[in-house]
Amino acid sequence: MKKSFTTRSLHVPFPRNDAHRALDMPVYETVAYEFDSSESMSANFRGELPAHVYSRTSNPTVEYFEQKMKALTGAHQVLAVASGMAAISNTVLSVCKSGDNIISGNHLFAHSFSLLDQSLRNYGLETRFVDTTQSHLVERLIDENTRAIYFETVTNPQLELADISKLSAIARKYNLLLIADSTITPPVVFNGRSLGVDIEVMSTTKHISGGGTSFGGVILDHGNYDWSLNPNLKSLTEKFGKDTFMARLRKNYFRNTGSAMSAHTAHYQILGLDMLELRFERSYSSCMKLGEFLTRHPKVCGLTYPGLKGSKDYELAVTQFQGKPGTILTFELESEKACFTFMNHLQMIRRATNLNDNKSLIIHPWSTIFVEFSEKDRKAMKISPTAMRLSVGIEAAEDLIEDIEEALKAIA
Ligand SMILES: *Cc1c(COP(=O)(O)O)cnc(C)c1O
Repeated sequence: MKKSFTTRSLHVPFPRNDAHRALDMPVYETVAYEFDSSESMSANFRGELPAHVYSRTSNPTVEYFEQKMKALTGAHQVLAVASGMAAISNTVLSVCKSGDNIISGNHLFAHSFSLLDQSLRNYGLETRFVDTTQSHLVERLIDENTRAIYFETVTNPQLELADISKLSAIARKYNLLLIADSTITPPVVFNGRSLGVDIEVMSTTKHISGGGTSFGGVILDHGNYDWSLNPNLKSLTEKFGKDTFMARLRKNYFRNTGSAMSAHTAHYQILGLDMLELRFERSYSSCMKLGEFLTRHPKVCGLTYPGLKGSKDYELAVTQFQGKPGTILTFELESEKACFTFMNHLQMIRRATNLNDNKSLIIHPWSTIFVEFSEKDRKAMKISPTAMRLSVGIEAAEDLIEDIEEALKAIA
């Protein structure tokens, strides 16, 4: 029988050549590595021996984190990077050149949107935004310069779910790479490979870091894509075959943009990964209880959590995420003023913008994350002035409900 996520995470082996036989992977906080001879130094630089050379290109602690991610996801190759944004930017840069385009979901994490819409557009890389929940609209935007389809498994804060099999079928039909940002749905409940995703990018700052401990990101290559179909990578495929994408990352964008994760961060991420399943299950179970409580409360006008039976995307949540589509919910009160009053009266739930911390965090997206956009643009993005986003932490559900119940009393 396949062992549980937590069991497997705890027992991924590492090379035991530490003088003290440390039971946990040591934190190798070093920049460089020494060689016995000039010959072995040269052999390592030629890539003929697998030693580490310089920690911006590889580091033993970071490598162990990558190996754990690989063992837990079954990915063909894994690269750990400095942040979720580094994972996304490195991936897109590695598969596109100036004049190419990618098709992206129109509801994205704000900085991902800004990266694609502003930063990369300045270098002649175009992004065509579309509602990826309407897969027939995606197909119309594809032309001979399209290289990839990009989407988020659960959009934030709209909490919409695209049908991943449909997007995968389109990607296959046109030989495009399918890239998923799976930050909201960690590997405990989601495996992109089984649904036809080629590359997963993740901000490990969120679920995996162990509660807001550190910034990190990972890129998973599921090994399904034939890299010779991409004209920018074709010439590398003869030498690197299935490893073409990782070779392009490691020997080019990842190394040359200085996107490395530090050994200390990798240590936090390793500890976070070991406890991911426990933390996720606890938050998910509270999320369901809070969802049910808020649905019944007379002052709450609307609630979105696709894990609740009867919600619009419940079926997709079951088929794609084992019925557990993350641990974030949104709910509405009668007015913006009511939201502010309610939030100001919370005693335990924190007013902060991160996601999947161990502490529950609340934010009013209309007046914060999206405040730079015009009212019209915010409405077009389905951001509502009367909605709040709650990232459910690992406190007891009863304590969270009590805090919310008391704060709701402050609204007239
Ligand atoms: C936070 C987040 C990112 C960016 O990750 P950082 O680690 O902050 O760089 C990307 N995508 C999603 C869905 C996120 O929630």
